[in-house]
Formats: sequence, C-alpha cells, structure tokens
Amino acid sequence: MKRIGDVLSSISVPIGPSNGTVSTVGPEPACSRCQDAGWVRLDVPVGHPNFGRVFPCECKIREQQERSRDSLRRLSNLDAFQQHTFDDFEIVEGTEEAFEAARAYANDPDGWLYLHGACGVGKTHLAVAAALQIRQWNSNVLFAVVPDLLDHLRATFDPGRGVAYDERFNAIRGAFLLILDDLGTENTTPWAREKLYQLINHRYNERLPTIITSNQEHKMIDERILSRLLDTHLTRDIKVDALDYRRRSRPDYFRRPRR
Ligand SMILES: [Zn+2]
Repeated sequence: MKRIGDVLSSISVPIGPSNGTVSTVGPEPACSRCQDAGWVRLDVPVGHPNFGRVFPCECKIREQQERSRDSLRRLSNLDAFQQHTFDDFEIVEGTEEAFEAARAYANDPDGWLYLHGACGVGKTHLAVAAALQIRQWNSNVLFAVVPDLLDHLRATFDPGRGVAYDERFNAIRGAFLLILDDLGTENTTPWAREKLYQLINHRYNERLPTIITSNQEHKMIDERILSRLLDTHLTRDIKVDALDYRRRSRPDYFRRPRR
C-alpha cells in the first residue's frame, strides 16, 4: 500500500484563497505544495470518491511525525540513564547470558528480548544499555516503565481530542524500538490493561523490536500478553538469576552467619 504522503506528492492542488483577492505579497511559503495551508485536495475528476475531499499535506504529516517523536522523547526518560552502558555493567555469576544477549541484540535488534528475574539483577540496566546503543543510529527509541506508561496514557486520554491521543498512542506502539520495563507490576484498570494488550499485540503482529523486563512471576502477567511473550519464534527469553546488586557491595555479606 502506498503512503498517503507519497500519493499526495504526485497529485495535489493547494487549498488556497478561493477568491484570488490576496493583496499583500508575503514571504515565500515554506511549502510550495499547499502554500502552508497544511491541506490539499487531490486533483481528481468530478465523481471520483476523493473529489472535493481534503487531505493533510506532506508537510503537515511530517510535522505530526516530528511532534510525535518529541512527545516520545519527553515520555521516555532514557536520558536519565546515560550511565547505564554495557561498559558500566558489572558481570557477575548469573548475568553472563543476559549480558551477551543484550549486547547481541543491540547490534542486531531482531525480534523481542525478554529479561526476567528478581529485582536488582541488572535487567533494566541491560535493556537501557541496548537502547542507548541502538539510539545512536535510530532515534525512534522509547523506554517506558509499564505502570508509568499506562498512567500517562490514562492521564492524557481525552475523548474530545481523540486525534492527538491516537497520534501519540500510534507513535508509542510504532516506535522503532520499545522497551517495556517492569511488566506485571501495573495495577491497572480494564481500560489500561486493554491499551497495554493492544500495544503489545500490535508489536507482536508487526514483529517490531521490543525489549521487555519483568520481575514478576508469569501468573502475574496477562495471559494474552504472556502467550505472545513466550513465542519462541519471536522472543529470546532469558532468566537472570543473580544476587541483587544492592547486596553485592556489602563486603561482609557472605560472612554473615546463616539463620
Ligand atoms: Zn504543505
């Protein structure tokens, strides 16, 4: 299927002032196709289904895409995790496989990567490290903590402004790389659960690169999501079984008598 923007770039006429009485000569329009109106009519004969209809101009579509990308960047707090690189990751017993898998994924983000295990074993660090590396060549990367993402979707949902909302939701679900951190910790409404399912199902159907982390048992995850997550044709599933990093740095930890 052709993108509407591609179609419009071949045949379109601007929606200009119809009475031709423009008296002042302004600056050159930035877009020669629509004369900055943002909308164009297709140049089709009377009787054509698109006759008389207006479509967003390519410049408007581009502007919307840029806006969506900015909004993703604001939502994604990846910038706060700049120090979570592979170089800064402490490889300890139980994290080797996840480390190698995340590094391989960063070089070739194909399919899904699912990192699960207890808190504090470095799952988020590895997911972020991969995201930071991929972001160097494709900026359309979104890191989202699942409960925060659902809060954001709920808070910004406004039926009166459906288009802006749909635009944002589509930008999230269509991001080149999506990191869903802490899946299963959301304590959410049926509406938000449905949104999360739609998001994941879309990425599943389109085989879009996705990294998911979870410290929850599988029974805590929506069955519909879990069945997609555990599809071995798509997902590399790795259990990280290591000691919580918060306890590793205590030198006396191992010497304590067991109770
Ligand atoms: Zn235009």
